[in-house]
Amino acid sequence: VLTGCGRSSDTGTTPGASNGGAAAAGFPADAVIGVALPQKTSENWVLAEQLFKDGLSAAGFKGDVQFANGGVSEQQNQISAMVTKGAKVIVVGAIDGSQLGTQLKAAKDAGAKVIAYDRLVKNTAAVDYYVAYDNFKVGELQGQALLDGMAKKKPNGPYNIELFAGSPDDANAQVFFDGAMKVLQPKIADGTLKVVSGQKDFNQVVTQGWKAENAQKRMDTLLSANYQSAALDGVLSPNDTLARAIITSVKAAGKPVPIVTGQDSEVESVKSIMAGEQYSTINKDTRNLVKETIAMVSSLQKGQTPTVNDTKSYNNGVKVVPANLLPPVIVTKENAAQAYANDPTLEPLTK
Ligand code: BGC
Repeated sequence: VLTGCGRSSDTGTTPGASNGGAAAAGFPADAVIGVALPQKTSENWVLAEQLFKDGLSAAGFKGDVQFANGGVSEQQNQISAMVTKGAKVIVVGAIDGSQLGTQLKAAKDAGAKVIAYDRLVKNTAAVDYYVAYDNFKVGELQGQALLDGMAKKKPNGPYNIELFAGSPDDANAQVFFDGAMKVLQPKIADGTLKVVSGQKDFNQVVTQGWKAENAQKRMDTLLSANYQSAALDGVLSPNDTLARAIITSVKAAGKPVPIVTGQDSEVESVKSIMAGEQYSTINKDTRNLVKETIAMVSSLQKGQTPTVNDTKSYNNGVKVVPANLLPPVIVTKENAAQAYANDPTLEPLTK
């Protein structure tokens, strides 16, 4: 059993302990379980689909797994349809974490439990649990990897860098950025790091919709405006899809590839890391996240309280959502073989 790590000082209850909520009623062992996934903005979401289908049916449930490639209103309609089908648990990977309040309230009113999966659902009381990799830790690992990678190439600063964040409607984007800035901000303050464009605020560096083309366009603009003569040493990228877009832009401008961080262990990025191009990624094994989510569903089915290990960090604006946080792992070329040792897709790429 994965126990997650959380930020140690933030951990509330011990795994398996009650989180203080009312005892769950339980529900039939073959109930409908809805899984509302967002858009296919990265490989982890695509992997989650089949893992949920297989895992829920192996556990005896009727899984109803949907993607909302059409956007927020499609996701709202899918959740409403799950309520109509009598789903006893609705697992939600939100496109926009602030726009599901009405549908999730209806789910709660119909007696369903709501689990926020990977992304927090915000500004609503209608969410019971959160299961995710520790997002703040992801950001810290990315910030540290950026510093380490640049120091390997050039032992002393100052280093010229640029910052990218994810989509502002995804609650994770701010948390990743805050984690990274906890590491980077002191180095910006002491002059070790120079953000040449001056764009340091979350709102200035977001990437709408987590779309590669948006990151690529912004990087093109940053390069032509700030790096005609200056060298670019590093780029904080919140995930692999955006990292590759940033690298594409730099190459198109005829510049050497800087240190670029990432997240998700996407196949193309693991290849890029092994080829010495992208510097780092994060391993957040989707298999484990889905497994932990289904374990939560099974606990609820039995009328038990699911395992959580953090009851402090995730205030969604209305309530602190009890969370089960799993530990993310930083991956560079050096530890890739070890990090992916039990991943049949990624391990062969490290040879
Ligand atoms: C996930 C990341 C992913 C991003 C874009 C986030 O909510 O936590 O792993 O890169 O969505 O799909």
